Amino acid sequence: MKKLISIMLCCAMAVLPLCACQKDNNSSSNGSGTESMSKQGEFVYNDPINTLTPVASQDKYRNVYELLLYTYSDSNGDETGDINGLISKLDYLNDGDPASGEDLGVDAIWMLPFTAAKSYHKYDTYDYYQVDEEYGTLEDFKKLTDECHKRGIKVIMDLALNHTSTEHEWFKKAREELANGKTDGYAQMYSLIYSEDKPAYFAGVPEAENWWYECNFMPSFPELNLSSDMTRKEIENIIKYWTENGVDGFRLDGVKYYNSVNKESTDKTDAIEFLGWLNETAQKYNPDVYFVGELWDSSTTIKKTYASGIDSLFNFDGSGSTGKYANAIKTNNVYKMVSSVLRFQNSACERNENYIDANFLSNHDQMRIADTLTEPYEQKLAAAMYMLSPGNSFIYYGEELGLGGTIGTQDASYRTAMVWSSTDSDTAAGPPPGYEVSNIPQGGGVKEQLKDSESVLNFYRRIIKLKEINPEIARGRITQALDLGNPKQAGFCVEYNNEKKVVLFNIADETVTVELPDDILKDIELYGDLYAGNTEDYKTLDISGGKITMPQYSVVVLGEKK
Ligand code: CA
Ligand code: CA
Ligand code: CA
Repeated sequence: MKKLISIMLCCAMAVLPLCACQKDNNSSSNGSGTESMSKQGEFVYNDPINTLTPVASQDKYRNVYELLLYTYSDSNGDETGDINGLISKLDYLNDGDPASGEDLGVDAIWMLPFTAAKSYHKYDTYDYYQVDEEYGTLEDFKKLTDECHKRGIKVIMDLALNHTSTEHEWFKKAREELANGKTDGYAQMYSLIYSEDKPAYFAGVPEAENWWYECNFMPSFPELNLSSDMTRKEIENIIKYWTENGVDGFRLDGVKYYNSVNKESTDKTDAIEFLGWLNETAQKYNPDVYFVGELWDSSTTIKKTYASGIDSLFNFDGSGSTGKYANAIKTNNVYKMVSSVLRFQNSACERNENYIDANFLSNHDQMRIADTLTEPYEQKLAAAMYMLSPGNSFIYYGEELGLGGTIGTQDASYRTAMVWSSTDSDTAAGPPPGYEVSNIPQGGGVKEQLKDSESVLNFYRRIIKLKEINPEIARGRITQALDLGNPKQAGFCVEYNNEKKVVLFNIADETVTVELPDDILKDIELYGDLYAGNTEDYKTLDISGGKITMPQYSVVVLGEKK
């Protein structure tokens, strides 16, 4: 028997200020005092997921799935993942029918780089227009985008515009020209300095004395000059080409390095100006194009860069072993997480009121979240917290299984192979070079976890369904952070199109009764629930007289009774 704690909080409710850019200008005012909470009858549990209608996304608000082709699924037996391998798994990601199947339910994929490169990760492309032959052909890729679109899945292409490979024709020509004293041809496409001394983060152009090229990552990654019209013309062509081949959006690599590190460089890029130009240019080819930038920097810089008009920038504050979601669990403080999400929102809105937050727990450059949060209930709670934060959610492949990396802090460990089954899989791909062992999550692979109602995978599927029946959560703005008196319980109100939803978290290992103040909801109805401890915990849920009794490790979504 769980101890029942009653937290009565009639007056103690602390409320953070209203969002500066609340989307719903016509905020519904609740009658104060005249209407009290529903007291009629007993609470009867009807699973909202079985009673409410899911709404498929038609806009840019998506649950995105980040994947590395190399380690995802192999179609031809060479154990390297490929495009056809991914196509064979699309029904797992989303079968296109909201009412059917055992799919995860994501409605966008972010494909890590797939154009021609020497490395397995392919961030060092030597041809932006060619699908790497390890992964397949352009025809395979067009088939992939067709199959994705049939299922309502948008395709987001990872684009490294900050640098090319030294093997790229542009760079080879630039070197040749510089050797002959020519600087107004291909050389203008790269970030260069003429100097007698070697500047930091620059490497020497072999054939041209005193000429240096910028390379913040490594000498084989020469940086482009993004302020050059010639570079921009090529970038426009790349965007046009992939848009015509079915790409719906772009994930921009290395935005932090769009500005040159050295003022003496030929590269005079202003990242905010460049992002604005890129967005406008891409809209010529697809008015609904979606951009999400990797600006791995302070949240102050991230918020400032929203002034460019870019749709999304990854919210790095939420991610990783010390991010706000993992921290909430490690420090037993969910209120801190909620108020931090609201503060970020209000500040980002000042720069761009249409910004879409981009939340995630980990990505291909970070230790997998399952290596920080090792218990399945922790992984589930963290997933609920970040995926129910307004904006877009980015699930890193394998995270939905509780997949860990465990062997060291190296890229190959973060990019361990997807696990389709813990016993057999004829589509197994990877692991990446330098990584000998593949990890099996505690609950097994996809095949095993689909059959287990308590699995991490089935919890992720339920979060996505919950978001589909409550589209306000992703699209709305938080209007209040709710302090429920104990940092283990907190929540927020979110509003969109005159609809208000309240999301409450109980991260404690015990059942707790909380109370909402009268002015939050007139007549409370359940719109969704999640149980990270045990799915049977729904039996403990109770809503009556304005009080909500929440089981251990649970999340409830509340709204007005219709
Ligand atoms: Ca293959
Ligand atoms: Ca389905
Ligand atoms: Ca740069």
